[in-house]
Amino acid sequence: MSPCIFCQVVQGELDSEVVQEDDRALAFKDVNPQAPTHFLVIPKEHIPSLSEVPEGKGDLLGHLLLMTCQIARAQGLDAYRVIINDGTGAGQTVFHLHLHLLAGRTFSWPPG
Ligand code: 5GP
Ligand code: ZN
Repeated sequence: MSPCIFCQVVQGELDSEVVQEDDRALAFKDVNPQAPTHFLVIPKEHIPSLSEVPEGKGDLLGHLLLMTCQIARAQGLDAYRVIINDGTGAGQTVFHLHLHLLAGRTFSWPPG
């Protein structure tokens, strides 16, 4: 089985530009940004997707969302979009739960 690239980022085995970190979560720049600001916020533990978050881990989900808001505030973002792609059909390509934080351009609605 090939190693999870985001677990490798957590372990420091893969280079990343970290913007915030604590004992449970890590935030770093997306390598292929889709907006002038594009960060990924991930749990340090390996959870493949949103729909596979175990019951009882709601606090971890809340923590990831709060970290995302803190980064937005620290970066002075006045408007931003937070996205979780769940499943291949929704555009998920890395199967380690991650929140996208996007800002710095106009976003259309509905999303593509
Ligand atoms: P998904 O399509 O799964 O929602 O998002 C995966 C994201 O991970 C993509 O935006 C992609 O650019 C980013 N990504 C993939 N590999 C790497 C990597 O090695 N380093 C970083 N920083 N981002 C990555
Ligand atoms: Zn992983």
